[in-house]
Amino acid sequence: MDFKIYENCPLSEHTTFRCGGPADRLVVAENKEQLLAALELPRPMILGNGSNVLFSDAGYRGTVIKLGGNFLKLSVRGGVVRAGAGVLLAAAAKAACAKGLTGFEFATGIPGSVGGAVYMNAGAYGGTIADVCFEVESLPQTDTFDFSYRHSAFMEQGAIILSAAFRLRKGDPEEINAKVADLTAQRKAKQPLSYPSAGSFFKRPEGYFAGKLIQDAGLKGVSVGGAQVSELHAGFIINKGGASSSDVIGLMHLVQKTVFDRFGVQLVPEVRIIEE
Ligand SMILES: Cc1cc2nc3c(=O)[nH]c(=O)nc-3n(C[C@H](O)[C@H](O)[C@H](O)COP(=O)(O)OP(=O)(O)OC[C@H]3O[C@@H](n4cnc5c(N)ncnc54)[C@H](O)[C@@H]3O)c2cc1C
Repeated sequence: MDFKIYENCPLSEHTTFRCGGPADRLVVAENKEQLLAALELPRPMILGNGSNVLFSDAGYRGTVIKLGGNFLKLSVRGGVVRAGAGVLLAAAAKAACAKGLTGFEFATGIPGSVGGAVYMNAGAYGGTIADVCFEVESLPQTDTFDFSYRHSAFMEQGAIILSAAFRLRKGDPEEINAKVADLTAQRKAKQPLSYPSAGSFFKRPEGYFAGKLIQDAGLKGVSVGGAQVSELHAGFIINKGGASSSDVIGLMHLVQKTVFDRFGVQLVPEVRIIEE
């Protein structure tokens, strides 16, 4: 095995929340052989772009594996985009749009990797990965994706996504560009993109919107330490500056309790909270 091992690696540098203690080790696997070797190290876990995870302040007692090298390949042929799991989803979506393909515009503002997005069945503005993904190479190989809201079979099976293929349709380049510009503008106007966060913190409860419930419970702007319920979009917990993971977890509990007491709705985090 030829990969470099980074010991005591601060996870705050690998997550969009910008908090979390050190991982015992972090390795970047550049091909399947290196990945298989890395999986032999203690307590391996795969990290994509770190945009939907919260590590504890104590960090992670094990091996965090990131995918580089061969996992960063991207191609667009005909109506099909093929991307390694380490490719940024937005880059894959933008490559499709640039070739006049429609159906992937929804993904241009999602800051995850292809692997993380397939695993989470990421989605936005009426589109989801499930709508466009038709082939996934995974370890072990899993041919039933079982996609549903922020769920996939890869979660159930603990499978690692190596690459994915997406099928799109030929579209009108001007309409595609206009749609991307519109969705980008909507994100800029409605989401607190200048602060570190992991996007919408909670899943959408059946029949409700998490952000609306949190806002109606009077929690907009409420803080625990450096973590705050965004004043712009109450569905986001942001790192206002120097937030610890315990601040975020403390605020999460406060939001869950307040919303439950007020409306009887149990909010479930969409963000994956990783135990030490
Ligand atoms: C500002 C902002 C806006 C966002 N907007 C959206 C949005 O509109 N829609 C949406 O759905 N999400 C959104 N998110 C959340 C996030 O970007 C998505 O959930 C994304 O799909 C996570 O991908 P990631 O690579 O960052 O995964 P990570 O956060 O790195 O990991 C998430 C989970 O996926 C697993 N994982 C990662 N890669 C692999 C792999 N190759 N194989 C198996 N498991 C893997 C990890 O182990 C972890 O359990 C947003 C986040 C931010 C910060």
